Amino acid sequence: MSALFNNYARRPISIVEGNGTVVKDSSGKSYLDFTSGIAVCCLGHSHPALVNTIKEQSEKIWHTSNLFESPGQEALAASLVKDNHLSYALFCNSGAEANEAAIKLARKHTGKSHIITFKNSFHGRTFGAMSATGQEKIHKGFGPLVDKFTYLPFNDVEALNNAVDDSVGAIMLEIIQGEGGVNSVTEEFADAINKICQERNVLLIVDEVQTGIGRTGTRFAFEQTSLKPNIVSMAKGLGGGFPIAGILATSELYDTFGPGSHGTTFGGNPLGVAVAQTVIDIVFQQSFLDEVVEKSTYFVEKLENTLPSDQFTIRGKGLMLGIDCGKDVAPFVAKAEEKGLLLVAAGPQVLRLLPPLTVSKEEIDQAVAILEEVLLSTVLA
Ligand SMILES: *Cc1c(COP(=O)(O)O)cnc(C)c1O
Repeated sequence: MSALFNNYARRPISIVEGNGTVVKDSSGKSYLDFTSGIAVCCLGHSHPALVNTIKEQSEKIWHTSNLFESPGQEALAASLVKDNHLSYALFCNSGAEANEAAIKLARKHTGKSHIITFKNSFHGRTFGAMSATGQEKIHKGFGPLVDKFTYLPFNDVEALNNAVDDSVGAIMLEIIQGEGGVNSVTEEFADAINKICQERNVLLIVDEVQTGIGRTGTRFAFEQTSLKPNIVSMAKGLGGGFPIAGILATSELYDTFGPGSHGTTFGGNPLGVAVAQTVIDIVFQQSFLDEVVEKSTYFVEKLENTLPSDQFTIRGKGLMLGIDCGKDVAPFVAKAEEKGLLLVAAGPQVLRLLPPLTVSKEEIDQAVAILEEVLLSTVLA
């Protein structure tokens, strides 16, 4: 009997080793990891630069506290707001916690508690982030939730125009809904959001916990839209596997969080910040991002040439791709694992492909060959 809570439907393998895209389980079997620990290990496993940073920083100082100045946080913040319209950063430990900070910042700044979010969104499991999440199954049994979130259908301009009144302080969305099925925001919807935010003085919070840090082929996914968020939350890829998260915000929000208003013990500790800085120094290079886009195009073309379009729809951007299979994907995930490819679902009918951003074309070829075998033979059977 396990002494662990049973709150995950765990796959029956334990991964004990990893290098690049390849991981090994405790029996010595190798897999291509197209989950990256759910979009976390953006530089793959055991990336030498990250190993080196952890070693070096761990011999200097791990943790000090936000009681003291942090040149590491200053430098990381500067790297994250370089070349975009955002100005300030704050660090914490997880995606949910980043969204909590975003929600608190928006409420305090606007003096309004009503926030619009969307059906099939996912913002995390803490009370604020869970309450922001537009999925009943995630709320079930935990009520009462934090008040004043309204869940609208995603990409529905009319519903949005009808719902926003003077009580609304912020709109919060993912550029591509990750857990909710790899659904991208449409151009039309982004334009409608911009219009409402400007006309009604509503803040825009973009949850880039999954889409950020190069995952979609740009530093942040909002860069590929017309959206100019006031607050951006980030987490998963930021530490490449080390838990660190944060928010970025525009300059007019600076005064809203003064000393004592918000904080965390571990957030932005020197070890986490050193690792994140190494991640950003690599991932934010234009040549690295260009390669992500190039590999994405290659991957999508291969998938489209392999999978019949009447049965499978490919969605997503960069290396955050989804295959909508139009049926329960759990058997595909299990079958792919048997053949040496690790995948994660996005909702009941979509397979999510989240390889490390460092994946090679050869590894993409191997993954597509396994997907072909698994998806086509399982469909015929
Ligand atoms: C994973 C995820 C979260 C929650 O992050 P945690 O680190 O698990 O708290 C929030 N938003 C999005 C879009 C996510 O994908």
